[in-house]
Amino acid sequence: MSILHRIRKPLLPLGLLFAGCSPNPYKAANRSYKDQVKQYARTIAVRPLASGVDSVPPAPYWVGTTNFNLRKPNFVIIHHTAQNSCPQTLQTFTVARTQVSAHYVICRDGTVYHMLNDYLRAWQAGLSKWGNITDVNSISIGIELDNNGFEPFPPEQINSLLRLLTRLKTTYNVPTANFIGHGDIAPTRKNDPSSFFPWKELADKGFGLWYSDTTGVCVPEGFSTLTALRLIGYDVKDSAAAAQAFKRHFEADSTKTWGLTDEKVLYTLYRQYQ
Ligand SMILES: [Zn+2]
Repeated sequence: MSILHRIRKPLLPLGLLFAGCSPNPYKAANRSYKDQVKQYARTIAVRPLASGVDSVPPAPYWVGTTNFNLRKPNFVIIHHTAQNSCPQTLQTFTVARTQVSAHYVICRDGTVYHMLNDYLRAWQAGLSKWGNITDVNSISIGIELDNNGFEPFPPEQINSLLRLLTRLKTTYNVPTANFIGHGDIAPTRKNDPSSFFPWKELADKGFGLWYSDTTGVCVPEGFSTLTALRLIGYDVKDSAAAAQAFKRHFEADSTKTWGLTDEKVLYTLYRQYQ
């Protein structure tokens, strides 16, 4: 048996052995995830607070309450990735220099990647505000949809999203009104998800509020557009940006103009918040 022959012989079985088994390209990221989780576990295991670390006079001994559990997310923030593929987004969320992440990434074919435990804080909302909430990351789950921002969302992707939202709403008791978009909470910086996103379909299934029929609706004199937008949650510091975000979400319209039709939609929705 020649050396060549001996080398060749095991090649076939080895090839068969590895067929259909692709190596995980995210091994290093997964190791980093595990290490960070361990570190945070150590942080929450610390008995608060060591005496002398703040202005509270120390008690004679530590008393741990017996009654507690984990804090739960209360909002779901929906995004589009503004990227071209799921692997591109997975790569973005697994390198430290980008400083961005999300709990879930949903691909165009409906595949769902769960990238972070729901109880941990993803870096997805950024500088944002909804009502008086200024740290949206601390109270929300972030979901990224693979979409470049200029295309419709395929039914497979929306179906996976709806299944995921159903689980999140049930598990964490997320209120219907608290399913919103990144563009809603950061109107001057963000426009995702785009006006292609089917918010009405979501609202019909209990994820987000929606306005009723505006036929024959008469907006009363003295109705304040800004007050209504603010009551819903929008940051009206830049009123034009807030109005545009509202139109994108509720009228699938990304233009900046504001007219009577928009006012009627806002008024009928606003009444649900009173
Ligand atoms: Zn976003």
